[in-house]
Amino acid sequence: MEDPKEIDSVYWDEESKSWKTEKITVEEYHGFTECRYCQSPMSHNVKTNGEFKVVYVRCRCSRS
Ligand SMILES: [Zn+2]
Repeated sequence: MEDPKEIDSVYWDEESKSWKTEKITVEEYHGFTECRYCQSPMSHNVKTNGEFKVVYVRCRCSRS
């Protein structure tokens, strides 16, 4: 599998009290953690804007 160049990051927005997505540009990709229920990625370890970050995404069970 090729490393992703962009990831749709999911975060909680306090103002609107809802989940929002934000596009993260991946500079370096360092793997992911998978959800133990659906085995799809739930967070990615990446470098973005020169910073190492854990980026959360929607796994398959939260997509339903
Ligand atoms: Zn899941």
